[in-house]
Amino acid sequence: MDLTHSEADEEFRAEARAWLEAHVPRTPLPSLETAEGFAAHRAWEAELAADRWSVVSWPQRYGGRDAGLLRWLVFEEEYWAAGAPGRVGQNGVSLLAPTLFDHGTQEQRARVLPPMATGEVVWAQAWSEPEAGSDLASLTSRAVRTDGGWLLSGQKTWSSRAAFADRAFGLFRSDPGAPKPHQGLTYLMFDLRAPGVTVRPIGRLDGRPAFAELFLDDVFVPDEDVLGEPGQGWRIAMSTAGNERGLTLRSPGRFLASAHRLAGLWRERGCPDHARARVADALIDARAYQLFTYAAASRFLEGERLGPESSMNKVFWSELDLALHETALDLLGEEGELTDSLWSEGYVFALAGPIYAGTNEIQRDIVAERLLGLPKGRR
Ligand SMILES: Cc1cc2nc3c(=O)[nH]c(=O)nc-3n(C[C@H](O)[C@H](O)[C@H](O)COP(=O)(O)OP(=O)(O)OC[C@H]3O[C@@H](n4cnc5c(N)ncnc54)[C@H](O)[C@@H]3O)c2cc1C
Repeated sequence: MDLTHSEADEEFRAEARAWLEAHVPRTPLPSLETAEGFAAHRAWEAELAADRWSVVSWPQRYGGRDAGLLRWLVFEEEYWAAGAPGRVGQNGVSLLAPTLFDHGTQEQRARVLPPMATGEVVWAQAWSEPEAGSDLASLTSRAVRTDGGWLLSGQKTWSSRAAFADRAFGLFRSDPGAPKPHQGLTYLMFDLRAPGVTVRPIGRLDGRPAFAELFLDDVFVPDEDVLGEPGQGWRIAMSTAGNERGLTLRSPGRFLASAHRLAGLWRERGCPDHARARVADALIDARAYQLFTYAAASRFLEGERLGPESSMNKVFWSELDLALHETALDLLGEEGELTDSLWSEGYVFALAGPIYAGTNEIQRDIVAERLLGLPKGRR
């Protein structure tokens, strides 16, 4: 592929850079894991959306700029380099929206996407259950047919941001008699404040509560909130998972910015020898990840669907994120634990990278079996 950007792409980059320079908050927003921080991040989504920077690759009618995937990558490079806030709308924008573009109806897109783009409706992902994480197909939460819709019951867990979010999307067993566990599942969107929903925050290591478990007791969901055909939930969910691990969850701009910040920190600390190789590795890996993503994006634009290479991508970015933060905290020493929230908060989040979006053990199995053609392991 040709990696030189066109003049128009560079103009787009300059426009984004100028906007970010004028708008990115001078002091970091409070953590989005708190009610106050969540509200501040929602307001930031609205500010981005007001000038159509919240979802640049979406069609204009839904609040985007029709900018395409490659320009989205360019925008992300500028966004993270500018030190802009983490995106509270990410579950919706990165996971549900691509699923709606592929499998939703016109009516669903017109209804769901614009308030998602402005942060007015923030989404949570309700997939995992106490006994269904890696083995997602063993989920037991039910969707039972009723007049004009479905009644949802069961328990979901580890739902990021659900403590403050508005709506959720998840998988439910609608045909308990189906011959295989991944058959008879239905993909539904529901309101986190609907009668029958109890949201119980899960305290994290740092005591912050945006994580939650969800208890559902005959929660009514109208037919219009079924995504795709009832019973086809697994196929639809796998397209969400490909997006999550592959392209849209962690753009390279994020790691490039962190790697450059790390190099800056290393210089500030007098270029200590013991960290030289780790800082260099972080820069090289962030650049490699950027090139790999541009290659995947151009294959995607040529009509290829993303396959098991998404799993390789996920292992790579999650390990890179951890290495970046560990190196920064080593350089900062005690100061990092006590005063520098950028790296220490980032470290707590990076620790979870090898777990969420499907654990790295599972991703390695997928790479071994589907990319390398190795024999199936014993389960
Ligand atoms: C920060 C964070 C955010 C999350 N956000 C969300 C969210 O928003 N929505 C949501 O639905 N879920 C979310 N999750 C849940 C996440 O997707 C699950 O934790 C993950 O899929 C693993 O499932 P589990 O916790 O049940 O672990 P288990 O499946 O019980 O796995 C335990 C361990 O055994 C290993 N293991 C299991 N099976 C195999 C196998 N066949 N081969 C090799 N090793 C295996 C796993 O890799 C893991 O190390 C989040 C998790 C975290 C940590």
